[in-house]
Amino acid sequence: MTEKLYEGKAKILYATDDPEVILTHFKDDATAFNAQKRGTILEKGKMNCQITVALFQWLESKGIPTHLIRQSADDQILVKPVKIIPIEVVVRNIAAGSLCKQTGLEEGTQLPFPLVEFYFKNDELGDPLLTRDRLLILKLASEEQLQQLQTLALEINQHLQEFFTSCQITLVDFKLEFGIDSQGQILLADEISPDTCRLWDQTETDPQARVMDKDRFRRDLGEVETAYQQVHKRVLEKLGSLKP
Ligand code: C5P
Repeated sequence: MTEKLYEGKAKILYATDDPEVILTHFKDDATAFNAQKRGTILEKGKMNCQITVALFQWLESKGIPTHLIRQSADDQILVKPVKIIPIEVVVRNIAAGSLCKQTGLEEGTQLPFPLVEFYFKNDELGDPLLTRDRLLILKLASEEQLQQLQTLALEINQHLQEFFTSCQITLVDFKLEFGIDSQGQILLADEISPDTCRLWDQTETDPQARVMDKDRFRRDLGEVETAYQQVHKRVLEKLGSLKP
């Protein structure tokens, strides 16, 4: 059995025989509110793994460097080893979630420009929102890296918005993580899935019925698996149709 390097809330990382290759296993476990709420979403591991692969391949095709090497099983990917930057980069197009709670903006308000935010990836502190200066004082990234993260996040947002719109899905907001490889290059890492994005079905107008992401689990809206299956189906069909 290969050595377990790290177990997070949704994924487990294992070493492989090759030091340049890490195996990531996607779990069915679901957590919310800093793991105060726990559950399982049937087949989530497989669906999130395949959605992540599809979206990372789409982003690679647009010139975004990612840590993905290839998919190795339904719920497993092989990735390049990176040192994860302990910052959660959140991009928002429409007001929802903590932005509404903290600012009073009404859910669903279209933002005048995409909002890029940095949160400290630190469970003990509850992943607080960082200012630029706090981030520099904590030495979580250099000024140059911060600029690169901002630019990459906005580029990724453009590409993902284009992709999801073609699936009749609105990309409300999402979280990204980045890592630094052995050459010092910043690579997109972690996952992009209904666990880490807010996705609204453009074919539904009802504010609860349109939710296709982990908010169904967080807010006990029911039909969590069905929502993930819908995203999985639309994303994979779209990517299949784009391939030559
Ligand atoms: O909760 P909040 O509104 O700040 O979340 C913004 C976006 O980031 C949502 O799409 C949420 O799913 C994602 N997120 C995440 N992991 C976290 C915090 C937020 O994937 N730890």
